[in-house]
Amino acid sequence: QADYMRVIVQDVHESVKSNHGDDKIGVELLCVVRNLLKKIGRTVLVGDKVYVEKVDWIDRRAKIDNVFERVSEVLDPPVANVDHLLILFSLDQPKIDPFTLTRFLVEAESVGIRVTLALNKSQLVTQEEVESWKMRLRGWYYEPLICSVETKVGLDEIAFNLRNQTSVIVGPSGVGKSSLINILRSGFGGAIKYQEGFKPILGLMYDGQKKKKKKKWFEEQSVGEVSARNGRGKHTTRNVTLLPICGGGYLADTPGFNKHKLLKVKKQKLPLCFPEIRKMVEGGQCEFQNCSHIGVQGCAVRGGWERYPYYLQLLEEIRIDEESQ
Ligand code: GDP
Ligand code: ZN
Repeated sequence: QADYMRVIVQDVHESVKSNHGDDKIGVELLCVVRNLLKKIGRTVLVGDKVYVEKVDWIDRRAKIDNVFERVSEVLDPPVANVDHLLILFSLDQPKIDPFTLTRFLVEAESVGIRVTLALNKSQLVTQEEVESWKMRLRGWYYEPLICSVETKVGLDEIAFNLRNQTSVIVGPSGVGKSSLINILRSGFGGAIKYQEGFKPILGLMYDGQKKKKKKKWFEEQSVGEVSARNGRGKHTTRNVTLLPICGGGYLADTPGFNKHKLLKVKKQKLPLCFPEIRKMVEGGQCEFQNCSHIGVQGCAVRGGWERYPYYLQLLEEIRIDEESQ
């Protein structure tokens, strides 16, 4: 069945310019995906850059004809061309579990895009506790942003970090991801101001009846025009939407993966997902290429750093998983 995508026009062909003027930039088109693309297995995700054809400028309908190559792809939520992951944990309720945090960091590092770590609910702990986490995380080569959605501390800095990026917020449940998304979306009276009439501009709409139980993070939305036009009667769709944020960036309106799935990282890639190992290898502490750093002669990476036991444990999990396949 048809998946509808809202596509925002960014550029038009010369002939369109001469016929219709320049005012098509920014127009929102409701699009279906060309059958040929589906046949060859090309998916279209929120965040994709696409070519559209057969544009009906009056009804604002079009067909997606082709998809530009993706820079990156995040699967949960499915968004293309994400260039920034904001990992959110909370200093209390729930407290940070360092191994869980490591899983999130490793998974984010394995995607190969910029990672920011933020720690929420700062008002629930003492300044000493905040400082001790900062110190500890610096030892992992991360500099966390400290914030509180409740007291609005640190939100300017987070908003500043999201500028000019397409970002997804991920983290365990209960840390305040939805609260953060909501406050960034509605504004918080900080130094960075949000436009009036803040509206979602890119979205993938699913047929709600078909995919009803699939993903609980999809926002429930009643369909106005879309279902009426298709004569399908009343039902709901779920969608992921990229919200425009000031400075030209976008933020996915749904939190991303919130629990660890088996890491999709390959065994050889795991060392690259630990900044500590990257630094030690750069510093010449391991003389081998493709070393797994598990106690060979000539490799000084083993031991002596906090997350080494986590590294070994993840390595073992991946080994067991790879062997079972
Ligand atoms: P999510 O599961 O990560 O999306 O977390 P939610 O946004 O649903 O938040 C979980 C709970 O934490 C809610 O009761 C929020 O009101 C609360 N919460 C969010 N941010 C803060 C904060 O900065 N301080 C405190 N004390 N509570 C917060
Ligand atoms: Zn080594």
